[in-house]
Amino acid sequence: MSLNNSGVPDRIVFSFTGDGSLLRKLERARAVLWRKCPAGRLEDILAEVLDAFLDKRDPSCRLEKIRRLKRQSGRITASTETRRIPQWVKDEVWRRDNGQCVFKTPDGARCPERSGLEFDHRIPWALGGRSHDPGNIRLLCRVHNQIYARRMFGGSAEKARPP
Ligand SMILES: [Zn+2]
Repeated sequence: MSLNNSGVPDRIVFSFTGDGSLLRKLERARAVLWRKCPAGRLEDILAEVLDAFLDKRDPSCRLEKIRRLKRQSGRITASTETRRIPQWVKDEVWRRDNGQCVFKTPDGARCPERSGLEFDHRIPWALGGRSHDPGNIRLLCRVHNQIYARRMFGGSAEKARPP
């Protein structure tokens, strides 16, 4: 058996037995991937399926995807951006804010809420705030999101300090 530079064999024989439902899934995947893998080789189909799975479920792949999307986002101009907050921004904001509301009372105590959190634009989208900039997005519980919204768009005089 010959090994490549990473110490992994170049070619490996895979052999296993599966049922009819697995065969149907493989045939379906082959049909979906016909344009990308016109030869329909099982090796190519499985590689594509595993790439898609790992891209979605493997934490290290997700991090790489986040980095890639961040690099791309630098090329997205504010005018082509939508109000919708991209998943990579949500992931980064969630990690930065530690899955907790970032509202602080005047004496600096942070709101302990960790459920029902919402992604809030610090500078509202309607006023030119960006959705693709994690610095403009924060985690707030519903109550504090409404308090900030009232302060931004008028109404209440609650005393709160932005984090
Ligand atoms: Zn809160």
